[in-house]
Amino acid sequence: MSYQMPRGTQDILPKDIAKWHRLEELIRQFCYVYNYNEIRTPIFEHTEVFKRGNDSSDMVNKEMYTFQLTNSRTSLTLRPEGTAGVVRSFVEHKMYGDAELPAKLYYLGPQFRHERPQKGRQRIFHQFGVEVIGAKNPLLDVEVIALGWSFVNALGLKDMKVLLNTLGDDASRDAYRAALKAHFADAIDDMCADCKRRYEQNPLRILDCKIDAEKDIMKTAPHMKDYLNEESKAYFAKVCEGLEALGIPYEIDDRLVRGLDYYTHTVFEVVSVNQEMGSQSTVFAGGRYDGLVSYFGGPEGMSGIGWAMGLERLILACEAEGIVLSEEEGLDAYVLCLDESASVAALQITTMLRAAGYRCERDYLGRSFKAQFKSVERRHAKYAILVGEKEVQSGVLTIKRTADRMQFEGAIDELVEVMDRLMEEEEGAHHHE
Ligand code: ATP
Ligand code: MG
Repeated sequence: MSYQMPRGTQDILPKDIAKWHRLEELIRQFCYVYNYNEIRTPIFEHTEVFKRGNDSSDMVNKEMYTFQLTNSRTSLTLRPEGTAGVVRSFVEHKMYGDAELPAKLYYLGPQFRHERPQKGRQRIFHQFGVEVIGAKNPLLDVEVIALGWSFVNALGLKDMKVLLNTLGDDASRDAYRAALKAHFADAIDDMCADCKRRYEQNPLRILDCKIDAEKDIMKTAPHMKDYLNEESKAYFAKVCEGLEALGIPYEIDDRLVRGLDYYTHTVFEVVSVNQEMGSQSTVFAGGRYDGLVSYFGGPEGMSGIGWAMGLERLILACEAEGIVLSEEEGLDAYVLCLDESASVAALQITTMLRAAGYRCERDYLGRSFKAQFKSVERRHAKYAILVGEKEVQSGVLTIKRTADRMQFEGAIDELVEVMDRLMEEEEGAHHHE
């Protein structure tokens, strides 16, 4: 029996939640100004939404949490990624018919992959992702990258690098695949089992192999760029021009193929080069996909582009660079209850303050004055409000300002007004500093 977190999962504890809130807030802010709208799709989908044709990716072949209920023939899968569900939804709700295309969407939520857990690699992790569907324009690829790039910049990340490549259109990729097949034909017997499978299903993916990466046959493999037709070359040149126009530094990585099978043209990975990140250094990654919309039954030739960002990795990258995502926030007031007979009054006072928007707390353990005062310090309360039998009878409270230990008096009925005044004073003092 085990009452512990399953391997590769993690509780996000209250002490860490402020970071997540900060990230989520910033994500929504960025998506708002870039005019991307949130979409929430189911956490599980029909398995075939993710397992399409003879997909060669590890994610689809080995990492999916797939289940079937006893009295059902439907196979369901916990989503391992966001794009498939979003495109499925785009087609199902006929968003391709919307007057304003492209649809600009974002999502935020957990993903599930049965992987070997490591630092920066979990079985449940969270992604912020964007998808723009219904327009094919290299400068849109630039916008999509720029959104992620400016987001990580806004957090203060400096050790980041954009790796860029193109997989070209179908014709270019077919030519390249044939060249790769010829190149690896004699060597494939000595390569890993995954590469053997990739050789049959999608030889491009061999280049993504982490096991055979150092073999000479990998280093001498043909280059994508030599198989691009004019159209694909022109598309890629425009992407590069747009990135340069926005001052986004990038590096062309001719071997970048990405982990999923559906990409065409632009692919990219934004990585942290900080030493502490180890091999899990990709913070966000994505690319353009031409075939997905029609695969799900949408119009032929409708293209999309997107990326997904691992939020746990983003947090690790911030920590590696010493970026503090959130400071602990203290209370506005702590109400000290001096006698049991004042307990109801203390409840009324906290309720009144909360209704006015003040963050406050009180004692519920019947502790001594000294112990309660410790809470004032521990919780960084700006004010300590004392309520005992005497205060209830006189209707007058003592309010202590912790910063300078100044003491104020206020009628219970006017407590909110007194607090407003004190807070305003404090604001004013800050402005004069
Ligand atoms: P990797 O090569 O690291 O396995 P991937 O190609 O599988 O990445 P994508 O499917 O493109 O990654 O997912 C986008 C982002 O989601 C990654 O760049 C990473 O930040 C994050 N991510 C992917 N898998 C995990 C995981 N198991 N745990 C934490 N974050 C992950
Ligand atoms: Mg992976």
